[in-house]
Amino acid sequence: MRKPFVAGNWKMHGSKAMILDLVNGLNSQADQIGDVDVAVCPPAIYIDYANQALSTNKISLGAQNMAEEAVQGAFTGEVSAAMLNDMACRYVILGHSERRAIYGETDAQIANKVKVALEAGLTPILCVGETLEERESGVMEQVIATQINAVLDAVGIEGFNNIVIAYEPVWAIGTGVTASPQQAQDVHAFIRGMLAKLDAAVADKVIIQYGGSVKPDNAKELFGQADIDGGLIGGASLSADDFIAICKAA
Ligand code: 13P
Repeated sequence: MRKPFVAGNWKMHGSKAMILDLVNGLNSQADQIGDVDVAVCPPAIYIDYANQALSTNKISLGAQNMAEEAVQGAFTGEVSAAMLNDMACRYVILGHSERRAIYGETDAQIANKVKVALEAGLTPILCVGETLEERESGVMEQVIATQINAVLDAVGIEGFNNIVIAYEPVWAIGTGVTASPQQAQDVHAFIRGMLAKLDAAVADKVIIQYGGSVKPDNAKELFGQADIDGGLIGGASLSADDFIAICKAA
């Protein structure tokens, strides 16, 4: 049995006041979280602030991105895997579609970041997903396979012992349009099947989150699918009530 994992991706939202309010809300409801792993991923500059405010051990911390360079040096503006580790992060989201689309991150760069994160002892949350155009033109599976294969080339199937995958169809992110539970399940099964061809035990164990307009009212049905092991939550993770409700649905 896989333990579900729900993570909140706060993206570039927040201020000290807003984060204090949100974390206080999470603290006061954390005892309602059942047998589910939970993390929040604040903007990098607020990770420590959120950590100081969190008074529950039920919620871990993650980052939303990190540098590709493994060692410190002259990389102005970047934050390294070691720094995230030092500041109590357990997870790092890598390859989010916003990083791919807005900042031009390539499959090769993302794969390298996954490798560097693993070497630093972080658990990467590797995001994959297709655009609407790719889905409609029938290349969805090919796109997702290419994204996963780049990481397999970098870290091998063994790497997936310590990787969380998040399937996030780009057309469902921040749009209010959720993949139907069946649409999501089909892709999750495809991903798990891909890994199973290489190592059945790893595939059986790997956590595959769904992300894209998850809300309290659709979480239960999504998380009820056989291959959906929790979610990566954007907008709804900015409300403590909604986020806790989603954690309870997992
Ligand atoms: P929304 O939940 O706002 O659609 O965002 C999903 C997402 O991108 C999480 O990483």
